[in-house]
Amino acid sequence: MSAATNRATGAPGGRLAGVYRAKALPASRQRSLAGRYAWPFQFLALAAFAWAFLGWLNETWLFVGDNPIWLNRYTEYAIILGFGVWRITAEQNPYTKKRLIVLVSVVSVIWWLIPWLFPFFEPYVGYPGAQPAFPDLHRPGTISFFVVLAAVLLFGRRVICGWGCPCVGIRETVGFAFRHNTLRGPWAWRLRHSKWAFFALYLAAGALLMFPPNAWSASYLGIFGLIIVLPYFASMLLSPLIGNRGYCRYLCPYGATFGILNRVGFYHLDFDGDSCNDCGVCDQVCDMGIPVLGLGREKGRIDVADCMGCGRCVSECAHGSLAFHDVRSVLSPAVVRNRGRLRAWASGRLPTARPQAWAFAGMLALSLAASWWFSGAIGGENELPTLLSSASLCLAH
Ligand code: SF4
Ligand code: SF4
Ligand code: SF4
Repeated sequence: MSAATNRATGAPGGRLAGVYRAKALPASRQRSLAGRYAWPFQFLALAAFAWAFLGWLNETWLFVGDNPIWLNRYTEYAIILGFGVWRITAEQNPYTKKRLIVLVSVVSVIWWLIPWLFPFFEPYVGYPGAQPAFPDLHRPGTISFFVVLAAVLLFGRRVICGWGCPCVGIRETVGFAFRHNTLRGPWAWRLRHSKWAFFALYLAAGALLMFPPNAWSASYLGIFGLIIVLPYFASMLLSPLIGNRGYCRYLCPYGATFGILNRVGFYHLDFDGDSCNDCGVCDQVCDMGIPVLGLGREKGRIDVADCMGCGRCVSECAHGSLAFHDVRSVLSPAVVRNRGRLRAWASGRLPTARPQAWAFAGMLALSLAASWWFSGAIGGENELPTLLSSASLCLAH
């Protein structure tokens, strides 16, 4: 066992302390342990963050041109696709590479192409806003939001945060250059509670959406929107100081919502203290600053609301001491989702890997085709929710 201590928890470990700043890495070979990159590369990443912010500013306040794709709210997704192709090519961890393929595909199809090319209103439980909602996986009241909540209960935050959220999309691609700045240590870990203040504001917004809008609630929702969006972009621009996951760690009310279900549902990481040699790699690769080793030693599992299920720690633990646990573990307890299994899946060696890849590609194609049909055949305005609410009223009677 290492004589060094884990910086976050005081638990044994931390052999790798200082590895972040030790060596500059070539941008063409990216690994789970964060390293420094050359300053022109960091400058390019910061410029891409600023460009994404400008796109949102232009659509909201500046109105330069006619919301061109290179300067509107979808610009961020185009940037994710561009940087994503480079990240996927350069990533050395096969499991993270697979995750990036899923993440960039979901952002490109579900968050970008569908709302941009085939906008339509998604049915709401409550009173909708004035923008096309689909696929508003984050907006309380939408059908897809509740579907995501149910999935998080079964599989943890990985169904959205680790694998499908555009916020992580831009931070995993553009923000990769700033991973070595991730805040760590006891104070950085305690600061995670700040997100519950944003969660409280979010609950109030969700409750207001259930009632007909009035002047007061419209003002609150407008201010709440700014409270979400401005820190979202500010945390990108602060990445050189705080690392690439500042928003997810400290500010995101959606992440807090999903985190509660992470905590009370089936998801956690199993920890095998007998095989663990306290090397500290799991702590070092976690961009959420979670003291994985300390929690494992203390509780025998990692079941915090903050784990977004990226799998970096699991897929890098050479001793197989960490494993994903979710509803599938209850149904098939003999299957251990540790490093060996994750890497076998990512390399296509598991029999289920290929059918799953085809099912995923088919799901994206089906979503695109169905959105085209909804938008063209049913209409891009209010027909869809009207039809569906009428159908549900019929069923209710
Ligand atoms: S914490 Fe929030 S912003 Fe981050 S990945 Fe999850 S939902 Fe997206
Ligand atoms: S769980 Fe794995 S990565 Fe973490 S300290 Fe133990 S052996 Fe190292
Ligand atoms: S604890 Fe592991 S799976 Fe969870 S966010 Fe950190 S690295 Fe990812």
